[in-house]
Amino acid sequence: MSELRPGTVAVHVGNECDADTGAVAPPIHLATTFRHGPAGERLAGYEYQREGNPTNDRLREALTSLEGGACALTFASGMAAMSALLESLPAGARVLFPDDCYSGLRMLFLEFLPERGILPDVVDMTDVAAVRAACARPTAMLWIETPSNPRMQVSDIAELSAIGHAAGAVVVVDNTFATPLLQRPLALGADIVMHSTTKYFGGHSDVLGGALVFARNDALAGKVAHRLHVTGAVLAPFSAWLTLRGCRSLGARMTMHCSNARKVAGFLASHPAVERVNWPGLPTHPGHAIAARQMRDFGAMMSIELQGGRDAALAMAGRLRVFTNATSLGGCESLIEHRASVEGPNPRSPQNLLRVSVGLEDADDLIADLAQALS
Ligand SMILES: *Cc1c(COP(=O)(O)O)cnc(C)c1O
Repeated sequence: MSELRPGTVAVHVGNECDADTGAVAPPIHLATTFRHGPAGERLAGYEYQREGNPTNDRLREALTSLEGGACALTFASGMAAMSALLESLPAGARVLFPDDCYSGLRMLFLEFLPERGILPDVVDMTDVAAVRAACARPTAMLWIETPSNPRMQVSDIAELSAIGHAAGAVVVVDNTFATPLLQRPLALGADIVMHSTTKYFGGHSDVLGGALVFARNDALAGKVAHRLHVTGAVLAPFSAWLTLRGCRSLGARMTMHCSNARKVAGFLASHPAVERVNWPGLPTHPGHAIAARQMRDFGAMMSIELQGGRDAALAMAGRLRVFTNATSLGGCESLIEHRASVEGPNPRSPQNLLRVSVGLEDADDLIADLAQALS
């Protein structure tokens, strides 16, 4: 059989029928401990839940196949995945982070990593010359987030991976916004893919989780696995099961998310009260050409900048009825958030910016809701 396409992999891999019962839906193994031999022999490969369990292994298999990697690790949250990876670097390691990125990552590299002797540097990842210049100094890791949060900046994974590798750096891509259904960073040259599976993989705003997928099962992968097993930010089996369940509809959901986003972005881009729509599918987006090359479709995350500043943005967000004002993204329901209001004392997002996660409702209802809120 020819190699299965990602939409099929998402439905099948990790979801194989249970060998003992033939059950078409996978079992959830809640056991914290597994019978072993008198000298600790792992009879069926498992010992203690923190060290690994069968439900997590199914999800890891699915993630590995979907991203085209060699192995995967699952964590209690996206932040736990990021922390485990970054804290596996030796003291003195210099890491390049994107200027526009998930706010939790920024807190991690500003507040926590320096305490451990890891040296963060911030660079505009859309500026290839700037990244090349930054890589002239010793660089242990290059962290890419594309499309980025919340400005939806696009960076060139293939080109930045080549630059990073020439400098001897490990290249990591946060693929949360795109999912492997739309973008496969390992095939473009990256070494590690990171996910907050809380978002599109879970897909229903009801399960927290994170993952790392490694291109190679190498020393770094082993080091991060060991750190996970000892420090213990593991994904609970029920969470693994819910995320695996999310995988089965991921392909269908992403298709509809993208088609709704295209309609919503088109409407917003033509509205006089909207100053700017940040969605890489629009031909006017500065990263459109790169996104068109490296993504299968443009995703359903966007941000808008309104005429009339902060007041106009808050008023609009307050008038919406189908969209919910809430943080997070990737669920069935459309969400909107005034990022500057939730970014703490020194917000980085423009005051007129609203981040939008386009959900799976009927696009006409979403557009009608946006129209009444903008008028
Ligand atoms: C949510 C998110 C994270 C953090 O993941 P959690 O599961 O909330 O810990 C990291 N990166 C991006 C792009 C995210 O959207």
